[in-house]
Formats: sequence, structure tokens, C-alpha cells
Amino acid sequence: MKKIDLHIHTIFSDGNLSPEKVVKLAKENGLSAISITDHDGVGGVELAQRAGEDYGIEVVPGVELSSQKEGKSIHILGYFIDLHNQELIDFFQYMREARLKRAEKIVLKLKEHGVNIEMKEVLEHSGQGGIGRPHIAEVLVERGIVSNFREAFYKYLGDGKSCYVQKANISTKSVIELIDNSCGIAILAHPSSPNVDKFIPELVDEGLMGIEVWYPSHSHTDIERYLRLANKYNLVPTGGSDSHGERAGYPKIGEFCVEYEILEKLKIKRGK
Ligand code: AMP
Ligand code: ZN
Ligand code: FE
Ligand code: FE
Repeated sequence: MKKIDLHIHTIFSDGNLSPEKVVKLAKENGLSAISITDHDGVGGVELAQRAGEDYGIEVVPGVELSSQKEGKSIHILGYFIDLHNQELIDFFQYMREARLKRAEKIVLKLKEHGVNIEMKEVLEHSGQGGIGRPHIAEVLVERGIVSNFREAFYKYLGDGKSCYVQKANISTKSVIELIDNSCGIAILAHPSSPNVDKFIPELVDEGLMGIEVWYPSHSHTDIERYLRLANKYNLVPTGGSDSHGERAGYPKIGEFCVEYEILEKLKIKRGK
């Protein structure tokens, strides 16, 4: 049975492996297809596709967009998006700047809590991609302010914690529309974290096409519930590891995968 992984981050957001290295590891671990789904950008997709040609791995263009509904943060995956769509390119530029401003606010909040780190250090960790909280967590761990990532989120950076700053307030409707306008198909990422079950009917009305059923933290009960919801709302059930490369606390490439059949279902849905 061919195996795939449709949710992977690289150094073009808050993962810590290059797209080429991700593809190499996908090959070594027996995957047939992957999708690169960096946060709010697609800088790694074409590099992965080129490596995919060399290694014989199918690389689906993807992205993970952050959005909000009634104060809840909701992540939407977009597959098969047109990388050259101008509206999408403009949006990524906007988000890059918004993420920089947000990181500056987080650094200020940390100072107010007696934690003195500098933006310069955060920028050294974020490299080519937009800045995410994991880059800040990395500085906190490196400086010995916390002992690990989990503690960084639990004490300071997690949703609602002392130094949390919300991202730009972009509605789910507008990100789903953006994906749709760039020939992509919109999928609800990790619907259990946070639990957004009650919003699913509205998201379907906004154009949602699929839901991430198989996800590392999902229990058997979660999987059954999301399969039922997928069936009820005619959504493609998808899945992926949400690997951030070699970062501790996330699955490594190849550790979590789903059947190739899922990609076939996505292709059919996209054609409709
Ligand atoms: P951002 O895009 O800056 O909001 O950061 C989101 C990233 O932070 C996601 O990829 C998550 O993997 C990670 N993250 C969010 N909450 C936590 C948490 N409580 N513990 C560890 N990582 C988290
Ligand atoms: Zn991430
Ligand atoms: Fe996410
Ligand atoms: Fe993710």
C-alpha cells in the first residue's frame, strides 16, 4: 500500500529541515507523496517539487493558513494552490509583515514578564520563513529560560498564556475564498486543537472541502467522530503528521502517514 504525508513544515516557516531534506527523508522512509504545508507561505514548494523529480516523490503544493472565527484560531490547509496567483502572493507578503510585528509584540510582553530576549535572536532562528512562535520558543530554550518547547508554550507563548499575542485577524471565510480563488482546495487542519466542531457547518458553507481526520494527537474516538462529520458534510477525510522536521515534540518524517487513496480523493474533489 502506498503511503503519503499531507502536512509537513520546512525552514520556510517553523520547521527545521530544508524542503530538499524533507523529500530525501520521505523517500528513505518509503513515502510515495507528500505535501509541503508551511504556515502562510509557499517558498519551499518548488524546491521540494524539484527534489521530488529527482527522488521520484510526488509533491503536492500546499500551505497552512491561520484564520479566526469568533476568537478561535483555525488553521486551514490549501492543496493544489496556484503558486503564482497574485492575490495569494500579496497575502503572503502581508502575513510576513504581520508576523514580524506580532513577534515584536511578544518580545515586548516577555520583557514585561522579566524575560529579556532580543528580536535579533528570534530573527536568527526564523531564517527564510515568516516568524512563528516556535522560533521564539527556541530562543527561550537556548537561553535556558525554559527547559523545553512545551514549557515555553505552557508558561508564555501558548494561546491565552501570559505573553500570547493573537495573529492578524483574518476570517476563515476570506482564507477559504483565497484558496478557492487560487485553484486550491480548502481543508480544516487538526480540528481538535482547538476543538472547532461547532463551526464545521459554517465552514462548509464558506467552501470547506475536506477535514484532517488522521492526525498524531487524534484518539480513535476523534477519528470516528471526524469520519462521521466528513461523511455528513461531504468532506474529503485527509491526514498528515504536521511534522516540523527534527523538532522535538513533533513526529519525524515517515513516522505518521496515511493511504495514497486520500490524495486520489482530493484530486477528484478538486476536479469537480
Ligand atoms: P504561530 O503560527 O506563530 O501561531 O505558531 C504556531 C505553531 O506553534 C504551530 O505549528 C504549533 O505546532 C506550535 N504550537 C502552538 N501551540 C503549541 C503548544 N501548546 N505546544 C507546542 N507547540 C505549539
Ligand atoms: Zn508550525
Ligand atoms: Fe496548524
Ligand atoms: Fe501545521
